[in-house]
Amino acid sequence: MEELLPGREVVIGTRNGTVVTRILPNKERRLVGAWCFADHYGPNDITGTPGMSVNPHPHAGLQTVSWLIAGEIEHRDSIGSVQLIRPGQLNLMTAGRGIAHSEHSPAGASGQMHGVQLWVALPEAASNVDAHFEHHADLPRFTANDMVVTVLIGQLHGHTSPAKAYTPIVGADVRGAGTLAVQEDFEHMLLPLDGSVATYHAPGRSEIRVDGDALLLGGQPFDEQIVMWWNFVGRSHEEIVAMREAWEAHEHFGFDLPGDRIPAPPMPATRLVPRGRLRH
Ligand code: MN
Repeated sequence: MEELLPGREVVIGTRNGTVVTRILPNKERRLVGAWCFADHYGPNDITGTPGMSVNPHPHAGLQTVSWLIAGEIEHRDSIGSVQLIRPGQLNLMTAGRGIAHSEHSPAGASGQMHGVQLWVALPEAASNVDAHFEHHADLPRFTANDMVVTVLIGQLHGHTSPAKAYTPIVGADVRGAGTLAVQEDFEHMLLPLDGSVATYHAPGRSEIRVDGDALLLGGQPFDEQIVMWWNFVGRSHEEIVAMREAWEAHEHFGFDLPGDRIPAPPMPATRLVPRGRLRH
């Protein structure tokens, strides 16, 4: 039996009230491999609207992965990167010890908006790497059965993405239907590009059947305990408090970007507790 990961609708205030489908974290499952966050948005017609408008905000302890099915986004970050991303291209921001970024629909955009925002938790050993940004416009792409597969990160069918990963993971955009050979020690999820319910596939299988256009995200089960709060991944309550205070003090996250920065929400009344990949 396949386990279902039903997405839930979340209104993102910083995206002009855009409704997104949040697949991860899910009710029972926080992570698939080191993938710890997955939002699917669109397809939306943003003609005549500001489109995506996410003001400067910080990240630490994770990588952000931006992937578009349609539309365009301009990324700007606090180490000086300015990068337009289009469908088929990958923006990968390794926050490491800390970075801030903003994402906006550029002037003259197509009027379409369809994509995913994904985060990958960094293992503790790499959680303090210097922030860096990668843009990959020329990812490996192959045809298998009736599928056209683009490898975003990791390796699939012998095709390896140049994107930097810190744990054994895979991410691929699959168009069409067919069967993919996968690593047996990986767990996976398939996120349909036209739906809101993903399927989870436990480790121990050598192939996965794809029924239609989807993202395949997988990796070795991530066995570290983490605290995920707001835009941060840490290892303790104190670490998260320190990140939050640094952002509020305009410290640590690079230079201040143009635009109103997003203030950190208040800390919850209870202490944050490190947790593993499963909810229970
Ligand atoms: Mn972000």
